[in-house]
Amino acid sequence: MSDSEERALGDEYAQQINAQLPLVGDARVVGYVDALGKEIARKTSRAQLDWKFHVVNSDAVNAFAVPGGFIYVNRGLIERATRLDQLAGVLGHEIGHVVERHSVEQMKKATGANIGISLLCTLTNVCDNTLGQVVINAGGSALFAKYSRGAEMEADSQAVVNVIAAGIHPDGIPEFFRVLIAERKRNPNALENVFASHPLEESRVERTRAMIATYGNERLRGLTRDDAGFQLFKSIVAALPPPPPPRQLPAVP
Ligand SMILES: [Zn+2]
Repeated sequence: MSDSEERALGDEYAQQINAQLPLVGDARVVGYVDALGKEIARKTSRAQLDWKFHVVNSDAVNAFAVPGGFIYVNRGLIERATRLDQLAGVLGHEIGHVVERHSVEQMKKATGANIGISLLCTLTNVCDNTLGQVVINAGGSALFAKYSRGAEMEADSQAVVNVIAAGIHPDGIPEFFRVLIAERKRNPNALENVFASHPLEESRVERTRAMIATYGNERLRGLTRDDAGFQLFKSIVAALPPPPPPRQLPAVP
């Protein structure tokens, strides 16, 4: 698939996502994530894509990528990140899925009819019921099917390389995995969305740490871990009105 074909396909899905999901409209919040994401994406082999970053107004912890360069991060994930390098790591990972073209093939197989509902289920906690699961399985589930372990490792490698290139410390990547794994133990339901598409085990944490270690302290010294801009951004997010309640699923025809 050519870049322009991929972009056209991604555009179509992004329009549906933007129509179906509650997005954060606060320009300071969206502008911050878009600027940070673009800073990282600019360092990749697909810098020429017209990258766009959005914040989904949902407590469910999730982030996902649509081919063509559309990246979405849930507010619930941002609220769990305590430092700049952690959010940057998540963005670097999602950017990595686009760079490696992991979901282009899945997208081609996805059929249009139930995409909207599938998106709601993937990105919010609206589908914590049997009806939702049935709809997902019957409809556009291919769109956000689980990535393979190999794809996850490639995206993690991309994340490490790309955040370092952007001047950000890669330690936030395995550290944030640890945050999510610890929270999964305490509260499995809050994180089922993100783990559904991005399988996460201890081995990913260790592998990412090992990859970072190959850079050596000299190369990593002075990279940004956090800054005042990120903490200001976090305080703006914390002051947003609560997310809208999950929507009722439409009846299955
Ligand atoms: Zn992933």
